[in-house]
Amino acid sequence: MHETARPRRKLGVMGGTFDPIHHGHLVAASEVANRFELDEVIFVPTGQPWQKVNKQVSPAEDRYLMTVIATASNPRFSVSRADIERNKVTYTVDTLREMQNAHPDAELYFITGADALANILTWQDWTELFELAKFVGVSRPGYELNTDHLEEHLRDLPADAVTMVEIPALAISSSECRRRAAEGRPVWYLVPDGVVQYISKRHLYVPAGTEGS
Ligand code: ATP
Ligand code: MG
Repeated sequence: MHETARPRRKLGVMGGTFDPIHHGHLVAASEVANRFELDEVIFVPTGQPWQKVNKQVSPAEDRYLMTVIATASNPRFSVSRADIERNKVTYTVDTLREMQNAHPDAELYFITGADALANILTWQDWTELFELAKFVGVSRPGYELNTDHLEEHLRDLPADAVTMVEIPALAISSSECRRRAAEGRPVWYLVPDGVVQYISKRHLYVPAGTEGS
């Protein structure tokens, strides 16, 4: 008698700078987890870009801790240090390779917003990306997912290689949260309460020299 094969674990992978993590990220992960019956979603904060081109990014440790704080109450959410410990610029393909090595039996679902998906699919090695994971693109206010220039490639892929999912619209971005914090305006309800408190405790996003004022 054959034993019934245990179904493969389904793991969501949500990469991001998370500077800071906000409710748009959390809703995206939660909706995709429900829709695809994922066993777990692993949030993977990106590594620290050592060449800060023209972007100032908060220390990896702060971004990691905010992600832990934001996800701690959900038993199906976890956070990986894989990208922040790699010490180089993060490419999705590296993240997915590492996730697959860590969870060889799992089926991976890479979750991304419409804006980021277009970039990943334009710049990276398609063949390997789609061998490693299925891609789930979530809707994001202000961004139209334009796959016209990708059509020709998408045609050659299995139907479930890239799925677009409509999620409750939250017009929140980390850039807007940083701008608000810098101007002393509230970020309450845009990010989880613990993240509001962490930002304030660590004086993140406050222009240097004005921390105490
Ligand atoms: P920034 O403004 O600094 O670029 P961000 O809000 O875009 O920050 P990221 O860390 O860059 O956040 O995004 C991580 C992932 O989450 C990306 O795939 C992005 O498209 C997605 N995402 C971010 N905000 C939303 C949102 N409000 N709705 C849906 N997806 C989102
Ligand atoms: Mg972004």
